[in-house]
Amino acid sequence: MKSGPLLTVLVLVTALAGPAGAAPAAQTPENTARPSWNWPLSPKPVVVRPFDPPPEPWLSGHRGVDLQATADGASVTSPADGVVAFVGVVVDRPVITVDHGGGLRSSFEPVRSRLHQGDPVTKGQEIGVLEPGHCGQLPCVHWGVRRGEEYVDPLAFVMDLRPSILLPLEGPP
Ligand SMILES: [Zn+2]
Repeated sequence: MKSGPLLTVLVLVTALAGPAGAAPAAQTPENTARPSWNWPLSPKPVVVRPFDPPPEPWLSGHRGVDLQATADGASVTSPADGVVAFVGVVVDRPVITVDHGGGLRSSFEPVRSRLHQGDPVTKGQEIGVLEPGHCGQLPCVHWGVRRGEEYVDPLAFVMDLRPSILLPLEGPP
């Protein structure tokens, strides 16, 4: 039977493709566009927890990225022009959502804002200040981006994801 080894190879290929499953998702149109937004924190933050959407909407996952801030109380800025779509508390977390147009919305938490629904904001404008708690002791902001109702990787709007995915594979062992 030649199918034995062949099947093994196929299974291996499938297994190898599995962990890289995030890569094909990055090929969706919004993610292949040139990143043109600003980071919502300055200086450029470290990503302490990546985008990890659940395979089904009702499952748990991480529908955004966690960015390390210099300190609690740090200024959070709008990554792009938009209009404030929501300011309020969701469960126990202060949240601000900015509608950037084109079906794209950014949400930040835990962020306390003095802005109101309907306020226009410009790229780089402060939209609130970071409150503690999302990453335990580490000051961090959770940034989620939705296109319509679908959560997409916010990093696609601020950096070219393809080199950051490919570089480790091309490096020496
Ligand atoms: Zn988070």
